Amino acid sequence: MAKLTVSDLDVKGKKVLMRVDFNVPIKDGVIGNDNRIVAALPTIKYVIENGGKAILLSHLGRVKKEEDKPGLSMRPVAERLSNLLNKPVTFVPTTEGKQLEDAIDGLNDGDVLVMENTRYEDVKDGEYVKRESGNDPELGKYWASLGDVFVNDAFGTAHRSHASNVGIASNMAQTAAGFLMEKEITFIGGAVDNPEHPFVAILGGAKVSDKIGVIDNLLAKADKILIGGGMTYTFYAAKGMKIGNSLVESDKIDLAKEILDKAGDKLVLPVDSIVAEKFDNDVAHKTVEGDIPDGYMALDIGPKSVAEFEDVLKDAKTVVWNGPMGVFEMSNYAEGTLEIGKFLGTLKDAKTIVGGGDSTAAVQQLGVADQLSHISTGGGASLEYLEGKTLPGIAAISDK
Ligand code: ADP
Ligand code: MG
Repeated sequence: MAKLTVSDLDVKGKKVLMRVDFNVPIKDGVIGNDNRIVAALPTIKYVIENGGKAILLSHLGRVKKEEDKPGLSMRPVAERLSNLLNKPVTFVPTTEGKQLEDAIDGLNDGDVLVMENTRYEDVKDGEYVKRESGNDPELGKYWASLGDVFVNDAFGTAHRSHASNVGIASNMAQTAAGFLMEKEITFIGGAVDNPEHPFVAILGGAKVSDKIGVIDNLLAKADKILIGGGMTYTFYAAKGMKIGNSLVESDKIDLAKEILDKAGDKLVLPVDSIVAEKFDNDVAHKTVEGDIPDGYMALDIGPKSVAEFEDVLKDAKTVVWNGPMGVFEMSNYAEGTLEIGKFLGTLKDAKTIVGGGDSTAAVQQLGVADQLSHISTGGGASLEYLEGKTLPGIAAISDK
């Protein structure tokens, strides 16, 4: 069922509560990277250009004690937003009460207000009460009372049931997705629920244990699953191959065997690896086929694997990628991830989707993100979505 989107709403003259993801890196009051604020602009602009009053809520970091609060104030975010929108933004340094209510009453159509960090509600009088992150029913109800409609554009917290997403939504007649959220639902939701075939999943990253849910869910849906990254070597061990000093989860070898049996030829393992004697960029490294020799660890997939993967990918209509192919943070072990990323960029008839925190960082760092159809904005949320779980933040959005 399609979800209601902000463009389905008549926002003119309305107080539009908006849950955005302004959870930016911040140190000593200075914002490190404002990507998330920039990403929220289309939905904010849509609301104010159509005569709505935008009341923005977001969490910022984790507030567990009173002393966490000053360093996690939303004030610098409100200032940056004002610069980006090139118009004044009202900042209210509280999350409830008369000051907030008066400021909202004073808004004109097209104005923007930013409320203080929603997680300030997690600590009251020095006590860690988790009103926001525990979805306190009174808090959701109170915040809902401040607006006429609710727009949720914070995909990054969609896997959590918090007062500022699920709590507000359950007290509103209508909740709509913002444009960012809509794109995540279209691409990730579309791939998981109704993919165009051939559907190929590329799964890598560090550990099998992090990705069991994703492997299980996608085994049932994808035509092929290409495995890369550190988890490869637990599968190698399960096949009785030598793995040298490569990353392995000994307690997951039996599980890897079960997955291999179940998957048959649907699951494709790398045939070669880049190996080194140390987890270090500045040591000698070489390509080996099959077994990893004693004293070596595998840190990337090799060129034959890349070519085999490309052969599978070339006809794909849907590709979901989670987990880098190697230790992309070190230039000598980034080649596999880079080559796969570049190849995906050439697949113009395919939907190419990247989810996962490090995977997103990898395609951005390697400069291939622009060529792909969708780069997810939520690490944990995209993983749970790929696992086929219902995300409470999305479930709480109204159907069209
Ligand atoms: P995501 O955050 O996208 O879900 P993961 O957290 O599962 O991805 O995995 C990312 C990490 O996996 C990276 O830090 C990368 O260095 C590591 N990694 C990839 N291949 C290997 C390998 N062969 N050995 C050890 N670590 C690896
Ligand atoms: Mg990660």
